[in-house]
Amino acid sequence: MKATSLAALSIGAVVLVLAFPQAQTADAVRAFTGARVFDGTDRAPIENATILVRGGRIVDVGPAGSVTVPPGAVRQALSGKTVMPGLVNAHGHVGNTQGLQQGHYSAKNVDRDLRTYAAYGVTSVFSLGDDQAAGIAARDAQSVPTLDRARLFVAGPVLAPKTPAEARQLVAEDQAMKVDIVKIRVDDNLGTTPKMAPEVYRAVIDEAHKRGLRVAVHLFYLADAKAVLDAGADFIAHSIRDKDVDADVIATLKRRNVCVCPTLTREVSTFVYESTPPWFSDPLFLKHADPTTVAELKEPARQQAMHDSTSAQRYKVALEQASRNLKALSDAGVKIAMGTDTGPPARFQGYFELMELELMNKAGLSPRQVLTAATRDAASCQRLSDVGTLDKGKWADFVALDADPLADVSNVRKIDSVWIAGNRVAR
Ligand SMILES: [Zn+2]
Repeated sequence: MKATSLAALSIGAVVLVLAFPQAQTADAVRAFTGARVFDGTDRAPIENATILVRGGRIVDVGPAGSVTVPPGAVRQALSGKTVMPGLVNAHGHVGNTQGLQQGHYSAKNVDRDLRTYAAYGVTSVFSLGDDQAAGIAARDAQSVPTLDRARLFVAGPVLAPKTPAEARQLVAEDQAMKVDIVKIRVDDNLGTTPKMAPEVYRAVIDEAHKRGLRVAVHLFYLADAKAVLDAGADFIAHSIRDKDVDADVIATLKRRNVCVCPTLTREVSTFVYESTPPWFSDPLFLKHADPTTVAELKEPARQQAMHDSTSAQRYKVALEQASRNLKALSDAGVKIAMGTDTGPPARFQGYFELMELELMNKAGLSPRQVLTAATRDAASCQRLSDVGTLDKGKWADFVALDADPLADVSNVRKIDSVWIAGNRVAR
């Protein structure tokens, strides 16, 4: 134990205040005691649990009587709290946005965004596009016991090749950049832009698979979902939003074990600022929202323009379609990965993930289904093996809540504290 901690021990109650902000060393041990633990698996929650953490990873978790806390461990009481795994956002974006402007990618903005996500309990983010070197560097620096911001995984640029040859070249560049996944869009933006041709996305997927990379596809239409699945797509990055999913697409998703990422709050963001949304007066939102952005979104002229926008009104309908399809896919046993498409302007990181869980619940999923999609399944869908549940060997990324989210999913808003690698996140 470090000298500061020993000094703090002598003055009793101050110990946690002084000891916890310190960076963890590789062998530092922390014991989180007294909480009810929902570990993100199908197991029943553990009452009065102890979570033992060494070097940022969980080394033991179980009922207090079954976990031996070694002498010298720093203790953190979480009595009365419910602990759950940190949320995993399978589709976000980082680093690009400044107010309502996009295209300001910087290491500083990446770090800012990862801290904002973490403040709301989102402890891992899979960024599906527009990632640059600073994002790769952030990812490569995060497997340390001192981490105290959200973990980041990246797709690199969203590939938009025009020919199969260019497709293969861009995938090679993605691999050289060491991305975690390849991202493409197969969409015409409600009929306003040309859609990537089948021979081009087939070349992207084929080349990615040859190089051991997976491909995430942005799409809107059921027919495109079927076509990209036939071509080998590995991850569906948005809801199917033009019509009801059918038995054919459900069977293919299940057979190929491809996950669907609903991004319901993405649709919300396209029309909701036609008026002032109720959460603009929520202190939890205002704590981290940029005040200038909020003020701009309240401007009457801007709200009127959104109200008059054809695409805004079509995406409003698309949200209802997406919600119905989420319920149908979940009922059919398709794996759902919670994701939001936050990060672009007016898609507020962290807060929108909490809203996403509520919208998934409103679509008909149970709190347990929603929470599983937002932890264990989002992680496994994105092949993240070190996060998503509170099992031995995983990073100690978790949220302590003042109320049980399995009873009411909105309780994810009642955040007591957020911990990443066992370090308390500033919020
Ligand atoms: Zn996106």
